[in-house]
Amino acid sequence: MAPLTISFQGAARTVTGSRHLIRFGERRWLFDCGLYQGHRDEAERVNRSFAFDPASIEAVVVSHAHLDHTGNLPTLVAQGYPGPIHATEATTQLSTFMLADSAFLQERDVEHVNRHGIGKPRRALYGQGDVANTVGRFVKHAYHAPWQLAPEVEVCYYDAGHILGSALTTFAFRTGGTSMRLGMSGDLGRPNRPILRDPEVHPGVDVLVLESTYGDRFHTPAAETERELVEIVERTVARGGRVLVPAFAVGRTQELVATFHGLCERGQVCDLPIFVDSPMAGETTAVFVRHPECFDDETRRTFEEQGGAPFGFQRLHYVTSPQESRSLNDRTEPCIIIAASGMCEGGRIVHHLRHGLGDARNTVLMVGFQAEGTLGRRIRDGAGLVNVFGEPIRVRAEVQSLDGFSAHADQGELVSWVARLDPPPRRIFLVHGEIGPAEALAAVLKQRLGAEVHIPTRGEEFVLWS
Ligand SMILES: [Zn+2]
Repeated sequence: MAPLTISFQGAARTVTGSRHLIRFGERRWLFDCGLYQGHRDEAERVNRSFAFDPASIEAVVVSHAHLDHTGNLPTLVAQGYPGPIHATEATTQLSTFMLADSAFLQERDVEHVNRHGIGKPRRALYGQGDVANTVGRFVKHAYHAPWQLAPEVEVCYYDAGHILGSALTTFAFRTGGTSMRLGMSGDLGRPNRPILRDPEVHPGVDVLVLESTYGDRFHTPAAETERELVEIVERTVARGGRVLVPAFAVGRTQELVATFHGLCERGQVCDLPIFVDSPMAGETTAVFVRHPECFDDETRRTFEEQGGAPFGFQRLHYVTSPQESRSLNDRTEPCIIIAASGMCEGGRIVHHLRHGLGDARNTVLMVGFQAEGTLGRRIRDGAGLVNVFGEPIRVRAEVQSLDGFSAHADQGELVSWVARLDPPPRRIFLVHGEIGPAEALAAVLKQRLGAEVHIPTRGEEFVLWS
């Protein structure tokens, strides 16, 4: 067998910029090519520089559409990558507008930085032309339909239950009677979440590359999260206020919508209008509606029986035009407004916050991760005064956060998923997690499953087969 190695080019001891290089003899493939998100200078340096020649890569295999797994593909293409990009069909459709949106946001950011003379003049990582060149390379694959990446390498996707189209990927390398199986978890979802099927357990692998975002945490159970959600909404309605929910347009918004639909079916928080105020959430929902094969049984049944519910039901309004978005400010009755971006760094949620933060009747409800340095984080941490569009606003609204909506498996879910792999992996590499969560998970995996566990550093290369 030709030597097989893997080197971790990103998401090593951090949660961003997933990028892993697999070498098999003379051949090279890339698994994911995500955008590294961080401070401007560092992010630009990391995203522009590849530790390999993009022209030397034969193919890219992508796990799912989140930008920290796909968002640097156009840079790779712009720097000479000539080959195909393998993905599931839903990933392909979501990536088409998510990459276009990423190019748009970068161009706008560069324009802002250059206009205000912040540091050295900059240019965007990539533009719409590079995105068009990239999305033209996608090759679609169904779950459970193996394909040949090379004559001796077979790849297969399984459902990861993380976002629509997300995949667990297995690679089977075979030469002259010997074989070796490698599993790449991408981001691992959670069982019993709304909409998506539970993560599958694929056939056993010798080596597993596993995410570890919440390797040191246990999420609040779903029933408790829903109970808290109902209490928060009812309390706000009793005050005559509105609930403002910053949410990522892809995944989290659809989960919230499905959760509210389910609550209403059970007679809770009915009669309250819900506005989804994000053009991209509308586009994303349209992709969801085209892929009922990705839904769990309950969602599929509701979808078929109620013509499009739970993504469109009577009290739910998708707001498209900016005028309509602004006109929500004139409403006097209680309502729920779900708007992007999830960390309040841009998007329509910002104008809703400017209008609503100073009113003690309202609630700002955080349902996603809030990175340090973002407006969302300052609000969540209880800042009394925040700057919105350069204007100081005193926070009088109630601020709440719910962690039960996470799309990443927690420690218990990660360990029980690995424990169900048969045969169990001999070696596990932990990626996509800060060092604390990765070390906590490594300790449990070693103790419970007796596996050899590594937490690679960026650029570190390991021989899997020699
Ligand atoms: Zn993800």
